[in-house]
Amino acid sequence: NNTIIAIDGYSSCGKSTLAKALAKKLHYIYVDSGAMYRAVALYFLRNNIDSADHAQIEAALKDIHLNFHSRDYETHITLNGEEVSDEIRQMPVSEKVSEVSALKEVRREMVKQQQRMGQSKNIVMDGRDIGTTVFPNATLKIFMTADPAVRAQRRYDEIRTKNPDITLEEVFENIAHRDYSDTTREESPLVRAKDAIILDNTNLTPEEQLQFALDKVEK
Ligand code: C5P
Repeated sequence: NNTIIAIDGYSSCGKSTLAKALAKKLHYIYVDSGAMYRAVALYFLRNNIDSADHAQIEAALKDIHLNFHSRDYETHITLNGEEVSDEIRQMPVSEKVSEVSALKEVRREMVKQQQRMGQSKNIVMDGRDIGTTVFPNATLKIFMTADPAVRAQRRYDEIRTKNPDITLEEVFENIAHRDYSDTTREESPLVRAKDAIILDNTNLTPEEQLQFALDKVEK
């Protein structure tokens, strides 16, 4: 049987850093489920899709083809053949993605695709509902959390070179907004799976987090 490691948690908690490190160490495939919702949000922005119009949403989903290609465990995602890995990290997409990821048609389709990716391969997948909805029988589930101010500072340091006009305040607000939206939406809200191990990494280095997770994998 294949092994599935599910990593969920709040925005900018370091989920992808840990997930990538684990995948690398264990030679598993890393899947960034957030990149999929971001790519869908980008499509909605570009094509002016009305999130209140079900017919438009269904038509959009039929026209959206996402593909991952992994290089050095970095996420490279294409939207209808176009590389959009950088664009999906920009503020317009970050501001749109909560709205789009709350749509049940969108979630149903993404979950289906994610489950397919975990059918026969060993994977580490990070997101918000991986341990609860996508893979309720995952081998190991980790739920990550950290102080919101620390999260905002980390995200700010990470994106400021590509977004020179951005302020720490804006990043903080975007994270707070996404946490609120993710935890209060009707469709698979962000919640810790009962059997997920909590990892608060406010004061932990990436190496310490990796060691923590590896200890759990080996158990
Ligand atoms: O992980 P990341 O912050 O890039 O995800 C972007 C957004 O996609 C989140 O704010 C959340 O609204 C949504 N998301 C989700 N379910 C997932 C992964 C991401 O709703 N499994």
